[in-house]
Formats: sequence, structure tokens, C-alpha cells
Amino acid sequence: MINLFPFSGYPVAVLGLGKSGLVAAQALQKSGAKVQAWDDDDARRRAAGAAGVPVADLAAIDWRDITTLVISPGIPHTHPAPHKVAALAKQHNVEIIGDIELLARAQIDAGYVGVTGTNGKSTTTALLGHVLRGAGRDVQVGGNIGTPALALASLGEGGVYVLEMSSYQLEITISITFDVAILLNVTPDHLDRHGGMDGYVAAKRRIFHRQTRPRAAVIGVDDDICRRIHDDLVRADDQIVIPISAGRRLERGVYVVDGELFDAIDGRATRAIDLRPVATLPGAHNWQNAAAAYAAARVLGVAPDAIAAAMASYPGLPHRQEIVARAGGVAFVNDSKATNADATAKALACYDAIYWIAGGRAKEGGIASLAPFFPRIRRAYLIGEAAAAFAATLDGCVPYTRSGDLARATAAAHADAVREDTPGAVVLLSPACASFDQFANFEARGDAFRALALALDGAAPAARPGVAGGSA
Ligand code: ADP
Repeated sequence: MINLFPFSGYPVAVLGLGKSGLVAAQALQKSGAKVQAWDDDDARRRAAGAAGVPVADLAAIDWRDITTLVISPGIPHTHPAPHKVAALAKQHNVEIIGDIELLARAQIDAGYVGVTGTNGKSTTTALLGHVLRGAGRDVQVGGNIGTPALALASLGEGGVYVLEMSSYQLEITISITFDVAILLNVTPDHLDRHGGMDGYVAAKRRIFHRQTRPRAAVIGVDDDICRRIHDDLVRADDQIVIPISAGRRLERGVYVVDGELFDAIDGRATRAIDLRPVATLPGAHNWQNAAAAYAAARVLGVAPDAIAAAMASYPGLPHRQEIVARAGGVAFVNDSKATNADATAKALACYDAIYWIAGGRAKEGGIASLAPFFPRIRRAYLIGEAAAAFAATLDGCVPYTRSGDLARATAAAHADAVREDTPGAVVLLSPACASFDQFANFEARGDAFRALALALDGAAPAARPGVAGGSA
């Protein structure tokens, strides 16, 4: 746990006692701060109280006595309307910050890498952590992924924190300057919380805040918004700017064409890595993540060969096109994290003979946008609330079975795939739906799929690549 010595003796309010908020309250308390904490959820308040955190109704305290409000990133402090506690803090000119800001103020000797973007943050963060660990660096990986920032270990000079930064977290992280800041891509998301697209883009841009040379900005140039931000950064000429692309050649930067990663950081392109055999990084979307991680690792001084070796042993993250089992020549791919059609499109693009399990609680827009991938689908197995609507879209284009639940869908998909004996057959859970009608969350849905696949006759866990170092 991080020692937050700059806050010793100061009165600090903590709003939000989920995983990261609870650790923040505990770290502050342990460091001698006078903590008062609150969560609107009764169970979380009780859990915090039981863990020794002083709980107080922050709507009723005297705000003239408070210097700092530490807020969880999920709680609105501006749009669509500030939480009443955030409004009180503002009224009394109390600073509002998040847990990453606390880390940055306490761990001043370490290096920092920040990763943001609409999609691919977790993958890029985990991959870069894996590469740096493989190169023998002292690295801690956390933030929006896995371990809360303040539960990470302390790092001295030479150590690097690799932090996944959501746009919410960027808004409440004010004084950090990233040694390497990665912006992967920007497409419309969470617009209600940021007061529209301009607010969302402004939050993402904060990742480059105050960077000067030799600090570096690594930025995807495959979408219009990021390309504009890239051009602005190049014009301003403050930091090193490295563009990355997963589709086209660049005169300078890092790019992937047909699965081959080229290093043209110094303007001369050399073929650095063949990503096609890396089963844990399938598809052009993952090549964008790999290009970003490569560029960041190069800036941090890791040799191309060492990066290539580490990427080959990247174990992947659970629930994102994760190969969980093989049975009778069929691979079972858990892509439970794909809760909308866009994410599912990325997975469908990767396989040619798909037995597709889809459905759950429908998101707006349905699956009509997936039509270009329909020829790859042998049969769909529909589950949950969305089954009827999905069936209507597939009718006449893709054969389907209304399986109802995941157990029946997995068994039927496996039986069909084995009977048809198609080379390269994949049973793919990529639901294009939220899970809440049948599961607690997408993780529970993915875990259930893994267990069902492994329980099939002749099933074996998929071989995972060798992992260098700890887990991310
Ligand atoms: P995030 O942390 O930003 O949600 P993840 O790495 O967890 O991103 O990936 C979530 C899903 O987003 C993946 O299952 C995949 O469908 C999609 N995805 C991953 N990387 C990218 C990318 N670079 N561009 C577009 N989509 C991506």
C-alpha cells in the first residue's frame, strides 16, 4: 500500500467506497490523514466501517474543515449533474481529486506511463506491463485495470507505473505528467458524463498534459479525432510525438500492415515483429494495441528483440477473445467482455468457421451492423432477453437456434461443430449484449462459459503461452 505522507495531518473526505475508494481511505488513514468517508450504498459503508474506516455523512459535515475530496471516478462531479457531495466541495473551494492523483503526489521518483482511449486500454496496459517485466524492469500495473493504484507497491527511481486511465480518472488527475502517454483511439462514448463530445475529447487529451521533451506522446492515427489531436501536438512541438497505425504505412512512427509490425520511429522502416502467430493478440484492433505498447517500450529503452520475445509470450486477458478450452478439434473462445456490436465485430472478423453464442440484455442498435460478418457464422445460438430481436435480424441470413441459456447454447454449438467437422471451427461467446439478465456481470458470464466448455467430453484447457514474470 502506498504511503501518502503529503496528506499526514490533513482532513480529507473520501466519496465512493468501492475497490479503489476503500483502498484510498485506508491508505490515507494509515498515512495519518484525518479521513471521513461515505458511499451512498449502505453495504459498502458497513464494509468500510468494519475495515476501520471512519464513516460520516459527507452531506452533513462542516466543509470549511476539509482540504481535499477524493472521489471515485464513477461518481459524477460535473455532468450530467454533480453528486451533492461534489457540489458542496466545489462551493467551499475544496479540491476534488482521484486516487491516481494521490499516487502521483506520493511517488515522485518513479516513472509513469498512462494509457487511454475508447477501446483497448486494458489490453495495451497489460501488454506493456508484460513487455517491461520481461525486460527486467521494476514495473507496477494498475489503475482502471486490476489492482487499485494505491494498493500497488512503492517504486523508487527507475521503477515504472503503467496505469490504465479512463476519461473519468483523467478528469480528476491534475498534476501528473506522464513520461509516456498513450492515446489509442477515440469514438463517441460516455457522452452524458462529459457534457458531450467536446468534453469527452478534452478529457482524453489530458493524458498529454504538461508533457515536454524527452517525454513522449504515443497516439493512434486511425480515427479522425485522434489524427487531429496528433496534428495539434506536432504543431505545438512540446513533447516527442509517435504516431501509430494498425492498417497503413507511416513515414514515421510504428505501424502494422497485414500483421507485420514496422518500426519507423526514426524515419527508416524496419520489420520488427510478426504478430500473426501471437494467438493472444488476434485482429487489427489488437495490432493497434501492440503498436502502442511497442512504441512505449522503445521510448523506455527496451530493445526491439526483447519486445518481440515478450509479445510472443503475452498471456492475454480473461474474457477478451480468450481461448479457454479445446474439445474434439474445436476451440472455445470467451469474448464475454464484448457487450456491444462494435466489440463483437472485432471478434467475428478473426475466425472463418464460427459457432456463435450471442444474446443477453440488448444494447441500442442491435446486431444489424454485423451483417458483413454473417458469412463467417455457421450457426448462431441465441440466449437471454435479446434472442427474439437477434433472431429477427438473422432470419434468412444465418441459421440459428434459440437456446435460451448458456449451458444449452454451449452444448449445442459443440455438438454441431464436432458433427460438421469443420477445420478451424470456433465456438465463440461474443454476446453483443450486457449480461445482467442472466449473470451478475460479464466476468461471471465468461467464467460460466469456461466451466461449461471444460466440462465437455474430451475437453482440455487451451495451452497458454509461457508467462515471463507476474500477472497483470
Ligand atoms: P478497454 O479497457 O478500453 O475496455 P479492452 O482491452 O478491455 O479495452 O478491450 C475490450 C474490447 O474492445 C475487446 O474485447 C475488443 O473487442 C475491443 N478492442 C480492444 N482493443 C481495441 C482497439 N485498439 N480498437 C478497437 N477495439 C478494441
